[in-house]
Amino acid sequence: MKIIMLGAPGAGKGTQAKMIADKYQIPHISTGDIFRANIKNGTELGQKAKTYMDQGLLVPDELVVDLVVDRVKQDDCANGYVLDGFPRTIPQAESLDAALAKFEDTIDYAINVEVPDENIVRRMSGRRACVACGATYHIVHIPTKVEGICDRCGKELILRDDDKPETVQKRLGVYHEQTQPLIDYYTNKGCLVEVDGTKDMNEVFSDIVDILSK
Ligand code: ADP
Ligand code: AMP
Repeated sequence: MKIIMLGAPGAGKGTQAKMIADKYQIPHISTGDIFRANIKNGTELGQKAKTYMDQGLLVPDELVVDLVVDRVKQDDCANGYVLDGFPRTIPQAESLDAALAKFEDTIDYAINVEVPDENIVRRMSGRRACVACGATYHIVHIPTKVEGICDRCGKELILRDDDKPETVQKRLGVYHEQTQPLIDYYTNKGCLVEVDGTKDMNEVFSDIVDILSK
């Protein structure tokens, strides 16, 4: 099962992608997590990506596409994967499709997690992330057992630099301009499905499982 998560920043793509990956035993591939790991490790890619991420801008397509295309060719992706945060532009989607077409392959589902902009800023200011294992929490909606410590791996949580309200506004603008057109793109391909991302995270997940089981 090859799945793409679509939706605004903070819609809950990562939260749902992790649950999908656990249930269906497929890899969760988050380009945001890959960049954050590279920043943490001080790589050249990380340094380049950070200058864009800190401004709320997208990292240029040429720094993202090969990375993902190479990743989905790895053995652990043979039974599928869930892509989170990629594609974010039409050229990225076209490059992915072209790479899959070489193996007569296509995406099965593009899941659009719908959340209105008004809810997003509130969600992002409460988001806490684990850079060690990629888990995400919310101080009110999805709290950890011990404040500031990841339930999954025990490492310290961070407030992402790009989750400041002014950067979130910028990211929302970038989303509407560059990423939202992917909804029409995948509708035209016949694989778009939509879920109401304002519901509780377990209800959203149950809606997704219903769709994937049909
Ligand atoms: P994205 O990957 O789309 O940027 P996340 O999965 O990181 O979004 O979720 C953004 C924030 O909202 C996180 O703090 C997360 O814990 C919280 N969150 C995710 N899903 C829900 C939900 N259904 N209801 C309330 N808060 C949620
Ligand atoms: P995310 O963790 O998905 O919210 O991504 C955080 C940031 O990483 C984004 O705001 C972008 O700057 C960058 N990024 C992640 N994925 C992509 C992508 N597919 N294309 C361009 N930039 C990306």
